[in-house]
Amino acid sequence: MSDIALRGVYFDGRTAAGRGVEVRVAGRDLTVVTEDGTLDTVTLDRERVSERLAQAPRIVALDHGASLEVPDPDGRFDRALEAAGVYPSLVERVQRFWPAALASLAGIVVLAIATYVQGVPAAANWLAYRLPDEVMRQLDRRIFARSRLPAARREALTRRFTAAAAVAAPDVPFRIEYRTMRDEPGVNAMALPGGTIVLLDGLVELAEDDDALMGVLAHELGHVAHKHSLRGLLQALGMGALAAVLWGDFSNVIANVPLALGVLRYSRAFERDADDFAVALLKANGISTHPFADFFTTLEEELHKERGGSTPPAFLSTHPSSAERQQRLRDAEN
Ligand SMILES: [Zn+2]
Repeated sequence: MSDIALRGVYFDGRTAAGRGVEVRVAGRDLTVVTEDGTLDTVTLDRERVSERLAQAPRIVALDHGASLEVPDPDGRFDRALEAAGVYPSLVERVQRFWPAALASLAGIVVLAIATYVQGVPAAANWLAYRLPDEVMRQLDRRIFARSRLPAARREALTRRFTAAAAVAAPDVPFRIEYRTMRDEPGVNAMALPGGTIVLLDGLVELAEDDDALMGVLAHELGHVAHKHSLRGLLQALGMGALAAVLWGDFSNVIANVPLALGVLRYSRAFERDADDFAVALLKANGISTHPFADFFTTLEEELHKERGGSTPPAFLSTHPSSAERQQRLRDAEN
């Protein structure tokens, strides 16, 4: 682990003027040095350091209201933070890839246009088969780890849900993949294009009732049935991204598609559609919607406990608020 020295601007928290200082990082210790000697030393952790946002300087919160601005044009500070174990969060990591991810989404549109306008079979094939596989491959490489749930448990859940889905939505193809997160609890579930539903161990372990998990899976199948992930991707597109694809390296940007998908936030309307789909599926199978509704509360409490409620996962962070969604689910029961 190498020690580094950078230039930064120190603010004492009482006056607006900043003061040029040297910032030294050795392991987890950050030291602020002036010509007169050491000004302050703190131990680095995630709470102290602001998220990396493009080229903006990182802000380090010191004690007694003081703070430090550290420009990091060559990423040296960032690497020192990683080496010190102050890892960037999942959301940060994705945000960092966001421009490239957006560009890659434009790639999908180009392919979709090629498919519909010219009827290029290769493009249609890519959208239907290669994209979903590529998404899983990338997520597995960057974020997910193998599920640690017993195989029997996974098989039982899949078997039960497959039977329930066959009753309510026999024509919606899907596949359930069990995974866990490498460095986070992974209390989450998500629907990817092509009908892949990812269920993370943390969410399965948190649910006391399998009926609640049936609700979660049904909700995700709702996203699949309505093709929300592809629609969401198209909505996330901007013209700048399209230009990047037209004049940039196409094969390269495709590799970032999964990152964009990983943080896809569905709209209010998409969540309601998915909840309604879940209610219909549960009812068609004589399964109560109460455990699913109750599970929202459990999830919310758990998240506040684990992360101070700062970055809820996709399943919860969507709108409308979980309280509103719970109420809708309860109303649906009666
Ligand atoms: Zn959802």
